[in-house]
Amino acid sequence: MANLTQQYIDIAAKRNPGEPEFLQTIEEVLTSLEPVLKAHPEYIESGLIERLIEPERGVSFRVSWVDDEGKTQVNRGFRYQYNSAIGPYKGGLRFAPSVCPSIVKFLGFEQIFKNSLTGLPLGGGKGGADFDPNGKSDGEIMRFCQAYMTELYRYLGPETDIPAGDLGVGKKEIGYLFGQYKRLTNRFEGVLTGKGIPYGGLQGRTEATGYGIVFFAREMLKRHGEDLKGKTVAVSGFGNVAWGTVLKLNELGAKVISISGPDGCIYDESGITAEKACCMLDLRSCGKNICAPYCEEYPTAQFLKGKKPWSIKADLYIPCATQNEITIEDAKTMVENGCKYLCEGANMPTTNEALKYLQDNKVIIGPSKAANAGGVACSCIEMGQNSGKTVFTPEEVYAQLEAIMIHIHEVASEASARYNLGYDLVAGANIAGFERVAEAMMAQGIV
Ligand code: GLU
Repeated sequence: MANLTQQYIDIAAKRNPGEPEFLQTIEEVLTSLEPVLKAHPEYIESGLIERLIEPERGVSFRVSWVDDEGKTQVNRGFRYQYNSAIGPYKGGLRFAPSVCPSIVKFLGFEQIFKNSLTGLPLGGGKGGADFDPNGKSDGEIMRFCQAYMTELYRYLGPETDIPAGDLGVGKKEIGYLFGQYKRLTNRFEGVLTGKGIPYGGLQGRTEATGYGIVFFAREMLKRHGEDLKGKTVAVSGFGNVAWGTVLKLNELGAKVISISGPDGCIYDESGITAEKACCMLDLRSCGKNICAPYCEEYPTAQFLKGKKPWSIKADLYIPCATQNEITIEDAKTMVENGCKYLCEGANMPTTNEALKYLQDNKVIIGPSKAANAGGVACSCIEMGQNSGKTVFTPEEVYAQLEAIMIHIHEVASEASARYNLGYDLVAGANIAGFERVAEAMMAQGIV
């Protein structure tokens, strides 16, 4: 089986040269699917894996816009429509200078499994652009979003492909994208999620990813006879995901001692309360993308320049920033510090090497595909709200979100146990996510 996995990885490597992030996730996922392929030779015979690793469709397009100085700017936009076996393509848009095919494909591929785990009718897709919204004026962001949507709209639709936010794409960007889609198509429809409340957005969507992560962490701890009350938690990032995570952790009695930005990390021993978390979000929206000014507001906190929170001693670590922020060196430090739990908020925050080291050292890991699926799950609720021409209350949304996160934890741990892997949520999430998509692909023939 290992030979076969290597063959698939080689196919992907040959077809996608110079795309390390994409190949990293292919390797991580396919390795854990070996026992499933062994049990299902028909998947191998029908070329299911070759089809799964190749996006159904990918577009790359020029985005030209004019900045405040009247100068023409050119960016590159992408959308990879990865897999539609169980529902329309669904996944966010990332606007950041690092966005390239490797990043979009890795995110799109992961999204297939994440969306499948929710149990909802959601296929996998992802998009974005190498545009940096930091430091741009509102007018520039609006013109960029309009130019981006002018190209992308022809590939979208509420039953075809429904983008949402991701890094660099929040409510403001979604608003401009939605406005332009409506102008171009003359249709008011739920083609984007993460919208503002007055025009179809879901109450509770902003905090959904963070809340979901904490519900998932709570289930992991519960399985080991522990709970979040009184636990010390190191969180990274300082965007929406980190914010929702900090709020819910506080609510459940845990103490959050860190957040981080590209400039370094904040260590606040006295605890980052809900109020402090809201101040951090204000920092975020000022467009500078630095977290250091938190210490001006709360001078007892320390700013550790250029550092990540992984050297801080904590009971639970929740990375909520970006991919590969936990390296093998970080993993070693975390193990030395007695780390027991890691719950991934960001997409693929741990390198494969670090992941293996942590698992070998008995750290219990909640993989991002499972732990951060609450965001996209609530996006599906938003789609239902839009197509049903209705409005859900935050209480209805939170209750559904909690049930979905418990379900994801259950299916991932059940799949792991079924393949005699013990309590391995990393493999279990990949397997459970894959099984549903594989069954649907088999039923639909070679397409
Ligand atoms: N970008 C988020 C994710 O990684 C949300 C996607 C969505 O709501 O479609 O899952």
